[in-house]
Amino acid sequence: MTITGNLSTMPAYYQDAYLSELTTAIREFRKDDRGIWYVFDDTIFYPRGGGQNSDTGFINGCRVSDVRKTSDKVWHLLDKQIVNPVQMRLDWESRYANMQQHTGQHIISSVCAKQFDWQTVSVHLGRTETLIELECGTIDENSLQQVENYSNELVRSAEPVSAIFVKREELQKYNLRREIKVTDEMVRLISIGEADITGCGGTHVKNTAEVGIIKLIDYEKIRNHIRLKALVGNAAYRYFEALHRQVQSAIRSLSCGIEDIADNISSLLEEQKSLKRQLKDIKTRWLNLLSENLQADADRIVILTDRMETADAIQLSAHWVKTKQRPCFLIFPGEKQNQFVFRLPEKDQRDLREVLKKLSEEFSFRGGGDKKLVQGIIGSREPDEAFRRNISDLLQKQGF
Ligand SMILES: [Zn+2]
Repeated sequence: MTITGNLSTMPAYYQDAYLSELTTAIREFRKDDRGIWYVFDDTIFYPRGGGQNSDTGFINGCRVSDVRKTSDKVWHLLDKQIVNPVQMRLDWESRYANMQQHTGQHIISSVCAKQFDWQTVSVHLGRTETLIELECGTIDENSLQQVENYSNELVRSAEPVSAIFVKREELQKYNLRREIKVTDEMVRLISIGEADITGCGGTHVKNTAEVGIIKLIDYEKIRNHIRLKALVGNAAYRYFEALHRQVQSAIRSLSCGIEDIADNISSLLEEQKSLKRQLKDIKTRWLNLLSENLQADADRIVILTDRMETADAIQLSAHWVKTKQRPCFLIFPGEKQNQFVFRLPEKDQRDLREVLKKLSEEFSFRGGGDKKLVQGIIGSREPDEAFRRNISDLLQKQGF
């Protein structure tokens, strides 16, 4: 056996069942806003259907982005025009992922039906996630774990997966998992050893062992049913790879073992909560002290030189008006620009919006608020001595 590491090439093991390359010819085509849809004399591409994604691959070097079936025609979507002869090449990695996923879905549906009497209502096989809607009102973690365990047991038991065609009138001879409603003369059945048999037109692996692993990652309530979210085969492997990278990064940051990650995060969050509380207390005390020690000079305004958060300035102004019972006109450097917070004591009946309007007209103040509290930014101008005097004069004219 030669191992190439190239997952896009179909292994010899499958070459009796599927074609990975085909030479054919164009039969018809039509254009729409997604591209050009072609029908060929023959195809190796499986169309979207039965919850399964369509195959991808290349036709004359162009990527096949979608394959759909309408009555007896299979339409292939390309983004460029092509000419005969037509050379098709299947993306085996993507096809094989679909085969694993679809077989995994049969396994999960079979376990749910046989062990729990939960019939499958609908399935959706996404590019990575497998969604299975079950006739089941509620589910608990224990049952979920059991579904996963039984499913992986069936994977490991390496049961053959076979497709057979039977006549419609002979269907009652088979112990089908779910009733089949079809009008076709011949019906395709997929069996998993003695464990399961059901009607399906999709693509599957030859043996359950090829599914590799089934991981149930979540569930949700939907239309009085439960919808399971599963990862199958390669998709599960990629999930574990990503999970492993995250866990490695976490244990390096936390300097702990895998089993201690959750406890470490809980302790850190607790510590953070406590530090936030302490910081808030210290900040309040600092702002109150600052407010008590600041004096509005003869010009009525307090201009701070240290950077301050707007929320802190608002808190400071609240303490100021409460303790001094005088208006607070505070100018301070903010994140990017100089900012202001003006506040009046409760008893003061004047309207700060009038003051702000004047300041906006004559200087570059921009902001808003209500009668008692306004805040905003002061353009790019530095609050130098001349600026201070100008503002002070304006405040005086306004009666402050
Ligand atoms: Zn199937």
